[in-house]
Amino acid sequence: MPNTSARKHVLLIGTGGTIASEVTEGGLAPELTTEQLLAHIPAISSICAVDCVQLLNLDSTNITPGHWLQMAHCIQERYGQYDGFVLTHGTDTMAYTAAALSYLIQGSPKPVVLTGAQKPIGFDSTDSKTNLMDAFRCASEDLPGVSIVFNSKVIPGTRAKKTRSKSFQAFSSINYPYLGILRDGVLLRYIRQDCGKAPVFYDRLNTRVALLKLVPGMGREAADFLLERNDGLIIESFGVGGLPEFGGFYHCVDEAMSAGKTVVLTTQVENEGSDVGVYHVGHALKNKLGVLEAYDMTTEAVVAKLMWILGRTRDRKEVERLFYTPVAKDILWPVE
Ligand code: ASP
Repeated sequence: MPNTSARKHVLLIGTGGTIASEVTEGGLAPELTTEQLLAHIPAISSICAVDCVQLLNLDSTNITPGHWLQMAHCIQERYGQYDGFVLTHGTDTMAYTAAALSYLIQGSPKPVVLTGAQKPIGFDSTDSKTNLMDAFRCASEDLPGVSIVFNSKVIPGTRAKKTRSKSFQAFSSINYPYLGILRDGVLLRYIRQDCGKAPVFYDRLNTRVALLKLVPGMGREAADFLLERNDGLIIESFGVGGLPEFGGFYHCVDEAMSAGKTVVLTTQVENEGSDVGVYHVGHALKNKLGVLEAYDMTTEAVVAKLMWILGRTRDRKEVERLFYTPVAKDILWPVE
């Protein structure tokens, strides 16, 4: 039963990352347990009661979609027992996990908060303790849905991107405002994510989704290779979006679409998103070939959304409908 007393009951799910890392001969590696992490923040008892689950202890470079399903399942199994959930996670792929959990756990009225750190919790100078305390504060508040809490910012799970590899301000919220900020340990909530009475959990992902970053002069070979082996291909193109008109890309995409594959065009530009119809290099892709475009979604969200959608259906119309249907604030572009 959810806790109705003032003190909230939060589940801490450990998955590894720098926050739990120690210095080893071979470099930093996640070794601390969730209980050891908690021991670094004794003041947590004034915020909430915490139970721990050590789900994984991995550098997030080693996290796979199978682990995303494990995380969602772990929360689903214990959803009724807690008021909120904190996942500690490496920063390198945290934005992918946050996006994936946003599709696997939809409409959650309870907070599902991811956090981590740029410096291990045992270091003298570290962001671990502040981030962890802030994550628990947020998990004890009325903050529905999946979010990343990092460096005093609350970012929607579908909008996060790691934009700095070393500084404490590691994440940006792309094409969307922060859900809130933390000031002196108090959550100032700007936006409340939509939620239902209970979340809808999903338990399937199609991992046959690939991402290709274009470079000038690239021919169709790499796209052919990836399309042969996958059900969906996301092409990170240039500017508002398009494909080179020489080198056979159009034929390659045309053939793949006829074979029932999904092709999504997105952009390498971090802010403001795609608008594929604007230039000749993109116009026909959208209007004749039926390629989907990411608009203002992050690449991380597109990867996770496509895995979620293709895990449900391969029907072209349904794939398109689901792709353009907003989930957890992932897409805002006015879709015609
Ligand atoms: N390599 C680490 C990881 O992603 C980096 C970090 O956590 O900041 O697990």
